[in-house]
Amino acid sequence: MIICRRCKESYKPSLNNSSACRFHPSFFVCRRHDDQKRYYELGPDDPPYAAKFYDCCGAEEPEAPGCTTNFHVSYDDA
Ligand SMILES: [Zn+2]
Ligand SMILES: [Zn+2]
Repeated sequence: MIICRRCKESYKPSLNNSSACRFHPSFFVCRRHDDQKRYYELGPDDPPYAAKFYDCCGAEEPEAPGCTTNFHVSYDDA
């Protein structure tokens, strides 16, 4: 078994395929959403920095499943 350096899951190279690795291509950020893509509605009592989400897809849970899939990437890959 090999550990994927992107999702940190172990996988069998023989089972690696273009949808095996699920991840977020962007970072989990803590700021307001852009006005054009407002995924998070702040409540009246929320401070403006309460918005936390993935910059790529707007998912608001750190544990949210990735919005993109690709091959797993081993530590041996260049
Ligand atoms: Zn995402
Ligand atoms: Zn992976």
